Amino acid sequence: MTRIDLHCHSTASDGTLTPSELVRAGGAAGLDVMAITDHDTTNGWAEAAAARPENLALVRGAELSCRWHGAEPAISLHLLAYLFDPTEPQLAADLVRLQHDRAHRAEKIVELLRADGVDISWPEVHGYAAGGSVGRPHIAQALIRAGLVRTTSEAFASRWLGARYFVPKSDLDVFAAVASVRAAGGVAVFAHPNATVRGRVVPDKLIADLAAAGLFGLEADHEDHSPAERAHVRALADDLGLVATGSSDFHGTHKTVQLGAFTTDLVAYEKIVAAATGAPVLG
Ligand code: AMP
Ligand code: FE
Ligand code: FE
Ligand code: ZN
Repeated sequence: MTRIDLHCHSTASDGTLTPSELVRAGGAAGLDVMAITDHDTTNGWAEAAAARPENLALVRGAELSCRWHGAEPAISLHLLAYLFDPTEPQLAADLVRLQHDRAHRAEKIVELLRADGVDISWPEVHGYAAGGSVGRPHIAQALIRAGLVRTTSEAFASRWLGARYFVPKSDLDVFAAVASVRAAGGVAVFAHPNATVRGRVVPDKLIADLAAAGLFGLEADHEDHSPAERAHVRALADDLGLVATGSSDFHGTHKTVQLGAFTTDLVAYEKIVAAATGAPVLG
Protein backbone atom coordinates (compact mmCIF):
# COMPACT_ATOMS: atom_id res chain seq x y z
CA MET A 1 0.00 0.00 0.00
CA THR A 2 1.20 3.46 -0.80
CA ARG A 3 1.00 5.81 2.17
CA ILE A 4 0.42 9.40 1.13
CA ASP A 5 0.16 12.34 3.57
CA LEU A 6 -0.49 15.60 1.73
CA HIS A 7 -0.58 18.18 4.53
CA CYS A 8 2.38 18.67 6.91
CA HIS A 9 3.92 21.69 8.61
CA SER A 10 7.56 22.40 9.51
CA THR A 11 9.34 25.20 11.38
CA ALA A 12 9.02 27.24 8.17
CA SER A 13 5.60 27.98 9.70
CA ASP A 14 4.03 26.62 12.89
CA GLY A 15 5.30 23.04 12.94
CA THR A 16 7.97 22.02 15.45
CA LEU A 17 10.20 19.85 13.21
CA THR A 18 12.63 21.52 10.83
CA PRO A 19 12.05 20.71 7.14
CA SER A 20 14.88 18.11 7.28
CA GLU A 21 13.51 16.54 10.45
CA LEU A 22 10.04 16.50 8.90
CA VAL A 23 11.00 14.52 5.79
CA ARG A 24 13.09 12.11 7.87
CA ALA A 25 10.14 11.63 10.24
CA GLY A 26 7.96 10.98 7.18
CA GLY A 27 10.33 8.26 6.03
CA ALA A 28 10.48 6.77 9.53
CA ALA A 29 6.67 6.80 9.73
CA GLY A 30 6.55 4.67 6.58
CA LEU A 31 5.19 7.33 4.25
CA ASP A 32 5.83 6.97 0.52
CA VAL A 33 4.67 10.49 -0.32
CA MET A 34 4.68 13.56 1.88
CA ALA A 35 3.68 17.14 1.13
CA ILE A 36 5.29 20.06 2.93
CA THR A 37 2.53 22.65 3.25
CA ASP A 38 3.63 25.45 5.51
CA HIS A 39 1.29 28.37 6.07
CA ASP A 40 1.83 31.06 3.42
CA THR A 41 5.42 30.17 2.59
CA THR A 42 7.62 27.98 0.43
CA ASN A 43 10.70 28.65 2.59
CA GLY A 44 10.99 25.05 3.77
CA TRP A 45 11.08 23.54 0.27
CA ALA A 46 14.82 23.56 -0.43
CA GLU A 47 15.85 22.09 2.91
CA ALA A 48 13.13 19.42 2.73
CA ALA A 49 14.14 18.43 -0.80
CA ALA A 50 17.81 18.20 0.16
CA ALA A 51 17.15 16.02 3.23
CA ARG A 52 14.47 13.81 1.66
CA PRO A 53 15.01 10.07 2.22
CA GLU A 54 15.43 8.26 -1.11
CA ASN A 55 12.19 6.29 -0.83
CA LEU A 56 10.03 9.30 0.03
CA ALA A 57 8.50 11.40 -2.76
CA LEU A 58 8.20 15.04 -1.73
CA VAL A 59 5.31 17.20 -2.90
CA ARG A 60 6.17 20.86 -2.53
CA GLY A 61 3.18 22.89 -1.45
CA ALA A 62 1.83 25.58 0.84
CA GLU A 63 -1.33 26.25 2.82
CA LEU A 64 -2.69 29.64 1.83
CA SER A 65 -4.68 31.77 4.29
CA CYS A 66 -7.83 32.84 2.46
CA ARG A 67 -11.12 34.52 3.10
CA TRP A 68 -14.54 34.29 1.54
CA HIS A 69 -16.28 37.65 1.47
CA GLY A 70 -19.73 36.23 0.71
CA ALA A 71 -20.67 36.09 4.42
CA GLU A 72 -20.69 38.86 7.02
CA PRO A 73 -18.22 38.82 8.66
CA ALA A 74 -16.06 37.11 6.02
CA ILE A 75 -15.19 33.44 6.69
CA SER A 76 -11.53 32.46 6.79
CA LEU A 77 -10.47 29.28 5.08
CA HIS A 78 -7.31 27.43 4.03
CA LEU A 79 -6.33 26.40 0.54
CA LEU A 80 -3.66 23.76 0.00
CA ALA A 81 -1.61 24.56 -3.10
CA TYR A 82 0.54 21.83 -4.61
CA LEU A 83 3.31 21.60 -7.20
CA PHE A 84 3.23 25.23 -8.29
CA ASP A 85 5.99 27.50 -9.57
CA PRO A 86 7.03 29.63 -6.56
CA THR A 87 8.52 32.29 -8.84
CA GLU A 88 5.23 33.05 -10.60
CA PRO A 89 4.93 36.81 -9.87
CA GLN A 90 1.32 37.05 -8.62
CA LEU A 91 1.53 34.14 -6.21
CA ALA A 92 5.04 35.14 -5.08
CA ALA A 93 3.74 38.65 -4.32
CA ASP A 94 0.76 37.19 -2.44
CA LEU A 95 3.09 35.11 -0.26
CA VAL A 96 5.27 38.11 0.57
CA ARG A 97 2.21 40.13 1.56
CA LEU A 98 0.81 37.31 3.72
CA GLN A 99 4.15 36.94 5.52
CA HIS A 100 4.27 40.63 6.22
CA ASP A 101 0.67 40.67 7.49
CA ARG A 102 1.30 37.71 9.77
CA ALA A 103 4.19 39.45 11.50
CA HIS A 104 2.26 42.68 11.83
CA ARG A 105 -0.80 40.91 13.25
CA ALA A 106 1.18 38.79 15.71
CA GLU A 107 2.88 41.95 16.96
CA LYS A 108 -0.57 43.51 17.52
CA ILE A 109 -1.77 40.47 19.48
CA VAL A 110 1.36 40.64 21.66
CA GLU A 111 0.69 44.34 22.30
CA LEU A 112 -2.91 43.59 23.38
CA LEU A 113 -1.69 40.91 25.77
CA ARG A 114 1.04 43.16 27.16
CA ALA A 115 -1.48 45.96 27.69
CA ASP A 116 -3.30 43.54 30.01
CA GLY A 117 -0.12 42.83 31.91
CA VAL A 118 0.82 39.54 30.24
CA ASP A 119 4.57 39.13 30.44
CA ILE A 120 5.49 38.09 26.90
CA SER A 121 7.25 40.12 24.20
CA TRP A 122 7.45 40.43 20.44
CA PRO A 123 11.17 39.49 20.33
CA GLU A 124 10.31 36.31 22.24
CA VAL A 125 7.45 35.34 19.88
CA HIS A 126 9.43 36.33 16.81
CA GLY A 127 12.24 34.14 18.11
CA TYR A 128 9.94 31.11 18.37
CA ALA A 129 8.99 31.60 14.72
CA ALA A 130 12.72 31.33 13.94
CA GLY A 131 12.48 33.23 10.67
CA GLY A 132 9.43 31.29 9.47
CA SER A 133 5.75 32.32 9.06
CA VAL A 134 4.65 33.69 12.44
CA GLY A 135 1.36 32.31 13.74
CA ARG A 136 -0.75 32.13 16.86
CA PRO A 137 0.93 28.84 17.91
CA HIS A 138 4.12 30.87 18.47
CA ILE A 139 2.21 33.26 20.74
CA ALA A 140 0.73 30.18 22.45
CA GLN A 141 4.30 29.03 23.10
CA ALA A 142 5.02 32.31 24.91
CA LEU A 143 1.81 31.96 26.95
CA ILE A 144 2.90 28.45 27.96
CA ARG A 145 6.36 29.73 28.90
CA ALA A 146 4.73 32.48 30.98
CA GLY A 147 2.78 29.81 32.84
CA LEU A 148 -0.66 31.12 31.76
CA VAL A 149 -1.78 28.04 29.83
CA ARG A 150 -0.47 24.49 29.68
CA THR A 151 -1.09 23.56 26.04
CA THR A 152 -1.40 25.15 22.61
CA SER A 153 -5.10 24.21 22.46
CA GLU A 154 -5.71 25.92 25.80
CA ALA A 155 -4.17 29.07 24.34
CA PHE A 156 -6.78 28.90 21.54
CA ALA A 157 -9.67 29.11 24.04
CA SER A 158 -11.88 32.18 23.77
CA ARG A 159 -10.31 33.91 26.77
CA TRP A 160 -6.97 33.95 24.95
CA LEU A 161 -6.14 33.75 21.23
CA GLY A 162 -9.53 32.37 20.18
CA ALA A 163 -11.53 35.53 20.82
CA ARG A 164 -10.41 37.95 23.52
CA TYR A 165 -7.00 38.56 21.95
CA PHE A 166 -7.98 37.66 18.41
CA VAL A 167 -6.81 39.90 15.61
CA PRO A 168 -7.72 38.91 12.03
CA LYS A 169 -5.15 38.69 9.25
CA SER A 170 -5.86 40.25 5.85
CA ASP A 171 -5.93 37.00 3.93
CA LEU A 172 -6.27 36.36 0.17
CA ASP A 173 -9.66 36.39 -1.45
CA VAL A 174 -10.31 32.69 -2.07
CA PHE A 175 -11.24 33.09 -5.75
CA ALA A 176 -8.13 35.20 -6.38
CA ALA A 177 -6.06 32.55 -4.59
CA VAL A 178 -7.45 29.69 -6.73
CA ALA A 179 -6.65 31.77 -9.83
CA SER A 180 -3.09 32.52 -8.61
CA VAL A 181 -2.39 28.86 -7.85
CA ARG A 182 -3.60 27.83 -11.29
CA ALA A 183 -1.65 30.61 -13.00
CA ALA A 184 1.44 29.24 -11.22
CA GLY A 185 0.74 25.75 -12.61
CA GLY A 186 -0.40 24.35 -9.28
CA VAL A 187 -3.37 22.42 -7.97
CA ALA A 188 -5.65 23.83 -5.25
CA VAL A 189 -7.31 21.64 -2.61
CA PHE A 190 -9.65 23.11 0.01
CA ALA A 191 -8.22 22.17 3.46
CA HIS A 192 -10.61 20.84 6.14
CA PRO A 193 -13.61 22.54 4.44
CA ASN A 194 -16.27 21.33 6.91
CA ALA A 195 -14.34 21.64 10.17
CA THR A 196 -17.10 23.09 12.33
CA VAL A 197 -14.87 22.64 15.41
CA ARG A 198 -12.76 25.51 14.06
CA GLY A 199 -15.71 27.88 13.66
CA ARG A 200 -17.99 28.85 10.80
CA VAL A 201 -17.68 26.85 7.58
CA VAL A 202 -18.65 27.88 4.06
CA PRO A 203 -21.83 26.63 2.34
CA ASP A 204 -21.65 23.84 -0.24
CA LYS A 205 -22.75 26.38 -2.85
CA LEU A 206 -19.46 28.24 -2.44
CA ILE A 207 -17.55 24.99 -2.89
CA ALA A 208 -19.48 24.39 -6.13
CA ASP A 209 -18.58 27.92 -7.29
CA LEU A 210 -14.92 27.33 -6.41
CA ALA A 211 -15.00 24.05 -8.35
CA ALA A 212 -16.29 25.97 -11.36
CA ALA A 213 -13.43 28.46 -10.82
CA GLY A 214 -10.78 25.74 -10.90
CA LEU A 215 -10.59 24.23 -7.42
CA PHE A 216 -9.28 20.67 -7.84
CA GLY A 217 -10.01 18.86 -4.59
CA LEU A 218 -11.40 18.72 -1.08
CA GLU A 219 -9.61 17.45 2.01
CA ALA A 220 -12.16 15.00 3.43
CA ASP A 221 -10.26 12.93 5.98
CA HIS A 222 -8.84 15.28 8.62
CA GLU A 223 -8.89 15.11 12.41
CA ASP A 224 -11.02 18.26 12.61
CA HIS A 225 -13.86 16.58 10.64
CA SER A 226 -16.37 14.32 12.38
CA PRO A 227 -17.15 11.03 10.59
CA ALA A 228 -20.34 12.64 9.25
CA GLU A 229 -18.39 15.65 7.97
CA ARG A 230 -15.85 13.37 6.26
CA ALA A 231 -18.64 11.50 4.52
CA HIS A 232 -20.34 14.74 3.49
CA VAL A 233 -17.13 16.18 2.01
CA ARG A 234 -16.46 12.94 0.10
CA ALA A 235 -19.98 12.92 -1.34
CA LEU A 236 -19.67 16.60 -2.30
CA ALA A 237 -16.32 15.95 -4.01
CA ASP A 238 -17.95 13.11 -5.94
CA ASP A 239 -20.87 15.29 -7.01
CA LEU A 240 -18.60 18.09 -8.17
CA GLY A 241 -15.99 15.91 -9.87
CA LEU A 242 -13.29 16.93 -7.40
CA VAL A 243 -10.68 14.64 -5.85
CA ALA A 244 -11.02 13.84 -2.14
CA THR A 245 -7.84 13.77 -0.05
CA GLY A 246 -6.94 12.78 3.49
CA SER A 247 -4.01 14.08 5.52
CA SER A 248 -2.66 14.52 9.01
CA ASP A 249 -2.06 18.30 9.07
CA PHE A 250 0.94 17.33 11.21
CA HIS A 251 2.39 20.19 13.29
CA GLY A 252 4.95 18.32 15.44
CA THR A 253 4.30 18.90 19.14
CA HIS A 254 2.01 21.89 18.49
CA LYS A 255 -0.73 19.31 17.88
CA THR A 256 -1.24 15.72 18.97
CA VAL A 257 -1.93 14.25 15.50
CA GLN A 258 0.76 11.93 14.08
CA LEU A 259 2.18 11.72 10.54
CA GLY A 260 0.06 9.47 8.34
CA ALA A 261 -2.91 9.57 10.75
CA PHE A 262 -5.03 10.23 7.63
CA THR A 263 -3.90 9.48 4.10
CA THR A 264 -4.80 10.09 0.46
CA ASP A 265 -5.45 7.25 -1.95
CA LEU A 266 -3.11 6.67 -4.87
CA VAL A 267 -5.68 7.46 -7.56
CA ALA A 268 -6.44 10.90 -6.07
CA TYR A 269 -2.72 11.61 -5.68
CA GLU A 270 -1.98 10.63 -9.28
CA LYS A 271 -4.73 12.97 -10.51
CA ILE A 272 -3.17 15.85 -8.56
CA VAL A 273 0.27 15.14 -10.02
CA ALA A 274 -1.14 14.84 -13.55
CA ALA A 275 -2.98 18.17 -13.24
CA ALA A 276 0.02 20.17 -12.02
CA THR A 277 2.89 21.69 -13.97
CA GLY A 278 5.37 21.08 -11.16
CA ALA A 279 6.54 17.58 -10.26
CA PRO A 280 7.18 15.83 -6.96
CA VAL A 281 10.83 15.35 -5.95
CA LEU A 282 11.47 11.62 -6.42
CA GLY A 283 14.22 9.02 -6.08
P1 AMP B 1 -2.89 31.52 12.62
O1 AMP B 1 -2.51 30.91 11.30
O2 AMP B 1 -1.82 32.37 13.18
O3 AMP B 1 -4.25 32.16 12.62
O4 AMP B 1 -3.01 30.30 13.66
C1 AMP B 1 -3.80 29.19 13.32
C2 AMP B 1 -2.98 27.93 13.51
O5 AMP B 1 -3.04 27.57 14.87
C3 AMP B 1 -3.55 26.73 12.77
O6 AMP B 1 -2.92 26.56 11.56
C4 AMP B 1 -3.22 25.59 13.68
O7 AMP B 1 -1.91 25.16 13.42
C5 AMP B 1 -3.19 26.18 15.05
N1 AMP B 1 -4.43 25.95 15.81
C6 AMP B 1 -5.64 26.44 15.57
N2 AMP B 1 -6.53 26.05 16.50
C7 AMP B 1 -5.84 25.30 17.38
C8 AMP B 1 -6.18 24.59 18.57
N3 AMP B 1 -7.42 24.62 19.06
N4 AMP B 1 -5.21 23.92 19.19
C9 AMP B 1 -3.96 23.91 18.70
N5 AMP B 1 -3.57 24.54 17.59
C10 AMP B 1 -4.50 25.22 16.94
FE1 FE C 1 -0.98 25.64 11.55
FE1 FE D 1 -5.34 24.60 7.95
ZN1 ZN E 1 -2.36 22.93 8.08
